[in-house]
Amino acid sequence: MRPTILYPLFAPLTSLPGVGPRLAPLLARALDGDKVVDLLWHLPFGCVDRSPRTGIADTVDGMVATLKLSVLRHEPAPPKGRAPYRVRCADAGGEIELVFFHAREDYLRSVLPEGSARVVSGKVDWFRGQPQISHPDYILPPERAAEIPAVEPIYGLTAGLTQKVVGKAARHALKRLPELPDWHDPRLAEREGWPSWGEALAQVHIPADPASLAATHPARRRLAYDELLAAQLALSVVRAKARARPGRALPGTGALEAKLRAALPFALTGAQERALAEIQADMASPNRMLRLLQGDVGSGKTAVALLAMARAVESGAQAAFMAPTDLLARQHHAVIAPLAEQAGLSVALLTGREKSAPREAALAAIAGGHADIAIGTHALFQEDVDFARLGLAIIDEQHRFGVRQRLMLSDKGRDADLLVMTATPIPRTLMLAAYGDMDSSRIDQRPPGRKPVDTRLVPLSRLAEVADGVRRAVAAGRQVYWVCPLVEGDEETPLTSVEDRGAALAATLGDGAVGIIHGRMKGPERDAVMQDFQDGKTRVLVATTVIEVGVDVPNASIIIVEHAERFGLAQLHQLRGRVGRGAAASTCLLVYGTLGETARARLTTLRETDDGFAIAEADLRLRGAGELMGTRQSGLPEFRLADLSAHADLLEIARVDAERVLALDPELTGERGAALRCLLYLFARDAVVATLRSG
Ligand code: ADP
Ligand code: MG
Repeated sequence: MRPTILYPLFAPLTSLPGVGPRLAPLLARALDGDKVVDLLWHLPFGCVDRSPRTGIADTVDGMVATLKLSVLRHEPAPPKGRAPYRVRCADAGGEIELVFFHAREDYLRSVLPEGSARVVSGKVDWFRGQPQISHPDYILPPERAAEIPAVEPIYGLTAGLTQKVVGKAARHALKRLPELPDWHDPRLAEREGWPSWGEALAQVHIPADPASLAATHPARRRLAYDELLAAQLALSVVRAKARARPGRALPGTGALEAKLRAALPFALTGAQERALAEIQADMASPNRMLRLLQGDVGSGKTAVALLAMARAVESGAQAAFMAPTDLLARQHHAVIAPLAEQAGLSVALLTGREKSAPREAALAAIAGGHADIAIGTHALFQEDVDFARLGLAIIDEQHRFGVRQRLMLSDKGRDADLLVMTATPIPRTLMLAAYGDMDSSRIDQRPPGRKPVDTRLVPLSRLAEVADGVRRAVAAGRQVYWVCPLVEGDEETPLTSVEDRGAALAATLGDGAVGIIHGRMKGPERDAVMQDFQDGKTRVLVATTVIEVGVDVPNASIIIVEHAERFGLAQLHQLRGRVGRGAAASTCLLVYGTLGETARARLTTLRETDDGFAIAEADLRLRGAGELMGTRQSGLPEFRLADLSAHADLLEIARVDAERVLALDPELTGERGAALRCLLYLFARDAVVATLRSG
């Protein structure tokens, strides 16, 4: 249960003065959250410095200035036309015009009486040799000049919001800060010169000078560290819980492995052998395995997984293989079951879609221990599933699952060894953030005979030629993926949708030749479309990124990505991995619309390399860690306060800190432990706290 001291922070935004039912949803959209704490985490990305108090003569075009003026005279707008209302003002050094569009004269006369002195702050434009300020941000009598903030934060907004509204709400939120026990090691805080949590938030939201907003400022670093420590602590708790359970040794006999190797139509690559050996060594030891297997698309992770599962079964245990979607679970089942059965293994399939009889049969086989291998989605780890003797759990495309599912799995798995596989290579710098110090293996070599995919950049203006090429390729018996950024078209976005593109292609190729698939289709419908493509009934598959992960149709040798500039680098790399799986030379056409500089760099990187690890590093460089972390696709945790391109050093400190805390106080019951629980709740790690003994 969240401690009551945090309640004000988790209260809805409407609990703040001035935030009503109209404003709250707008704010919630900008903050990506509807709680007071979300507003506190919504750090300004820049500021307006109003501190320079200059004279008119010293202003330059575009600068924000705060000027002490005397009001000379009003020049109301003529009744017709678009001319603005002007107020002429002066100081010792010159004259300036304040300009107002759609102004109300009585109002302006009340705030700027002729002959009065006023302090005015706003952006100065030099227009035809004359300085002017249109719609000043502040107009105050000199005795109230202190109300003008020296430095004003600038927040990310959404339509309907203004800086003033967000700033005011944030200042109200700051008044709600409870007095929290400090969770940081006092020596660290002292060494780094960090302010307290409350002071840090105040310094960032009410910056004293522009430097307060730099990523290197102690306040920013402290807040970043709060978040990184919460994340590392959560990872460490989960890992410590997992490791505390004695594992079991699964040494195996090699008998099933030998049969499976004989059944496989290929020999493992050196990289596959190395990864398998590392996994088998972990399995043979009595400690629990927690290993990440990274391998680029098509590097052959499935075969390694299969042989690891055989090792578990040889040792008298069951193995489970979990995929992120029904489609992938079924595809794995289709590949694995025939091989496994040749070796005398029995395989059960359990996804959300197995109903009644088949479901009961699968559950019974898993619980009774007749099923040696269970393949499925997260349905495998739901409450009603009971493994007789689970020894190894494998999670494919791990990035699609959250920490919650990982926890669920470690509950179900009890002492089972855990192998997570990902085709989204993770730059080394980010590995720690995502997985803590989980062991990892890499398959860094492709199976032999793969020809690199010929990747080309094509401007949208040549789309007709591309479509023509598709027609010829289909006539020659090839199969094609065509990826679009949208499911359905709408008036506002000038992008082609799956539906429109599908219809256009069907018009030239014939209805039966084109399948369309996207995430909004129901599972069975999607499977049917996929099956038709796999069977070669349809020749072109028009798709969204649902085909990005894992789908394997060796006869498909061309992929076209329309509006490739809209996709992330890692995503494009995944998409390209759909082809180049068969004997034929493959092509990837990246069809682009308007290209910005980074988009161009992304597409060029892709044309130049197909090494997933190199691409992941380039992605990190091009997007900046902050943005990369923000994308769900990457499977990396999302940070709101920390920016790993600036705060990477803190990550390592946080890891060591978390390990040390847990070594001394594994259930977080001591004084600092209690404060750290508070930190975990603050960053919504409730599920992790729930695994701790109550303190
Ligand atoms: P991923 O790592 O993307 O999951 P898969 O396991 O689906 O890759 O393997 C991709 C393709 O490569 C499959 O068709 C698989 O049969 C084939 N494959 C895997 N290992 C080898 C190998 N050592 N030699 C030849 N082909 C292989
Ligand atoms: Mg795979």
